[in-house]
Amino acid sequence: MARLIDSGPGCPTPTPLRGASAAAARGLVYDDAVKAETDALYPLIADFVTPMEWPAIAPLVAGINRLKKTKNAVILAHNYMTPDIFSLVGDFRGDSLQLAREASATDAAIIVQAGVHFMAETSKILAPEKTVLIPDTRAGCSLAASITGADVRLIKQKYPDYPIVTYVNCTADVKAECHITCTSSNAAQVVEHVAKEWNTDTVILVPDQYLAKNVAAQTGIRILTWPGACEVHELFSGEDVKQLREAHPGVIVLAHPECPPDVLQEADFAGSTSALSNYVAENQPNKVVLLTECSMSDNVAAENPAVNFIRPCNLCPHMKRITLENIYDCLVTGQHEVTIPEDVRVRAKAALDAMLALPKMARPLAFRTGQVPLELEMVI
Ligand code: SF4
Repeated sequence: MARLIDSGPGCPTPTPLRGASAAAARGLVYDDAVKAETDALYPLIADFVTPMEWPAIAPLVAGINRLKKTKNAVILAHNYMTPDIFSLVGDFRGDSLQLAREASATDAAIIVQAGVHFMAETSKILAPEKTVLIPDTRAGCSLAASITGADVRLIKQKYPDYPIVTYVNCTADVKAECHITCTSSNAAQVVEHVAKEWNTDTVILVPDQYLAKNVAAQTGIRILTWPGACEVHELFSGEDVKQLREAHPGVIVLAHPECPPDVLQEADFAGSTSALSNYVAENQPNKVVLLTECSMSDNVAAENPAVNFIRPCNLCPHMKRITLENIYDCLVTGQHEVTIPEDVRVRAKAALDAMLALPKMARPLAFRTGQVPLELEMVI
């Protein structure tokens, strides 16, 4: 069960314990030059950082932005980053698919992945000539940890006639064994594409069982799946949505498709983080709740000040390992570089390329809501 809190700038996003010492320990001070460089940035995060905290944070922000220039580096910031990272130092912001496209397009020498490890691997797969850094190697993912390349090889032995689609939230080893990747923006498009290409009515979609169930409800294609789940989104339930509607009459409920199907059954709209963000920007609902990772609401709220957000507090502990401090440190030291054996990288790239070669969608696909949840057969 998700823990629900009320709206307002009180969401307990864990601003790391900084104090002046975090910047000072790195030889950074809040002097006139830093103040001049960062004053215009403060309003972007004024709902999350108090004026008292700002002198401790601004030197890190200025230090990171200076290092990016001198080292020809860019920061790819996922939607689940805290607002200080997302709004103040991120060069490209978005969901997995958007960041993957940016990784292959940028001409920067260094990519710092402000996200989790599988995302940094995806950048390295697509941009092998670039140095890809992850600020904290412990930034993992429950979905990525649920399945290995060896598991996929066994699935292929058992089901040689079915295409295997993997959600990008997996390791390079897993991508290397699958036929094509997908994201939550294009999962239905990818599944329909491979079913047609393989002339089959059955597709295997791993490792997220909930995404698979939600895609099956959209496409009508028989999907076999794997018992993985996102430890953040699986906490939401259809019952949570009913309680939210009782507590906040008129609230518009938006859900991510990594949530269990009973959540999408009760929601008003469902889609990837980009789709949710677009929905809020275009519809400007009076009162909205995003059933996804907590910082996402903070970041969308900052861009939509007229919208009142109800904020369930489900944090991804892996995403929250990335901080301004360790982004600064990785730019200074060059740690931690992400490497992938070349044979694995090449095969993983083939799966990513198969997805990226599909016609670019004008906008991320929305999932139908109100559908009766489906049960799917597991491949194990
Ligand atoms: S939010 Fe879920 S899917 Fe995303 S990194 Fe965290 S555990 Fe993985």
